[in-house]
Amino acid sequence: MTENKRSISRRTFLKTTGAVGIGSLLSSIPSPADTLAKSGTDESQPQLVPTRPFGKYFVKFPEDRQKVFLLTKSFSMRSNKWSEDLEKSFKRMNTSTIDLFLIHGVELFEELRPYRNSVRWAEKAKAEGKIRFFGFSTHTNMERNLLKASKLGWIDGIMFSYNFRSMHAKKMRKAVDACSKAGIGLIAMKTQASGHYYADKVAPNKKEQAIFDHFAEKGLTFEQAKLKAVWGDERIASITSAITNMPILQANVAAAINNTKLSLHDKKRLDQYAHQTASNYCLGCASICESGLSKDVPISDVMRFLMYARCYGELEYAKSNFNQIPLNVRKRMAHIDYKEAEKKCPQRMAIGRCMRDTTTELA
Ligand code: SF4
Repeated sequence: MTENKRSISRRTFLKTTGAVGIGSLLSSIPSPADTLAKSGTDESQPQLVPTRPFGKYFVKFPEDRQKVFLLTKSFSMRSNKWSEDLEKSFKRMNTSTIDLFLIHGVELFEELRPYRNSVRWAEKAKAEGKIRFFGFSTHTNMERNLLKASKLGWIDGIMFSYNFRSMHAKKMRKAVDACSKAGIGLIAMKTQASGHYYADKVAPNKKEQAIFDHFAEKGLTFEQAKLKAVWGDERIASITSAITNMPILQANVAAAINNTKLSLHDKKRLDQYAHQTASNYCLGCASICESGLSKDVPISDVMRFLMYARCYGELEYAKSNFNQIPLNVRKRMAHIDYKEAEKKCPQRMAIGRCMRDTTTELA
């Protein structure tokens, strides 16, 4: 197979898998109202999707394995750990092959070490049929990582933060374009980009209400409109979405099968909202703000952990991530002067305030 054909097939595969998954899910889902009425459950409470073990096997029939696109990650930047992590995934999922193996949370591409061994590991694992595609996920310095990867030829897939707030920036457009031309399958995450860094969300403010009303007239929720903004980009093969209850699943599926397209005016409204609320969302461009510090503080990571706590309501998860930062760094975080970093921040975020809040909120 030529390189070009192989590139097309791996992107097409991701898209096709997404479509099949949505179609088969839809036929079996009752409406949330039906489900709640039958169960006599309080509608005001979030309804979690119940789960049960599926016999002894993750994928019971060999032919079903072909219908599933399996992705797993290693949290290690060291290639000598990846075989062990892959074996653990095989065991956990009762399979002998993974479709996409990602190295999680790459901040700078050079972190993959030793570099030559990383390439060898990926090529060998593919040749042995243990993985089909190799890549990484990134929340930080994404444009740089994407551009770098697009020139290598051995990176097949990248999962990265991509949403209505970040997708129009010149550097991001260039990076996504380069990966798309190189045939790298792109998976968007953090597509909602909710913001609300500075206080617990209680009720929509005026700007939010205006945009809710705008999309409601088209029959879309604001969240569905954000998904459509990303899906509207043909260079994105798939998105990953945190689905914590049935109404979110149904809303996502409904948005995926609804043919309504965002108009130019809709996109402008999203863009305008992104500008109006920029200081509520961290873009993960760590090298910009962290270069304005005299001491080493992972601002971008801390911002993400704060987002998990305040925007996603995942306080324990946020705490467990935050507490992995070395104690001496956590201790000095609240006492550093962040003025230079704040001046450099393209989103004009209140970095000092967020860092100080985090040391008490996530301690
Ligand atoms: S705080 Fe600002 S400069 Fe730093 S990563 Fe976030 S958006 Fe970028």
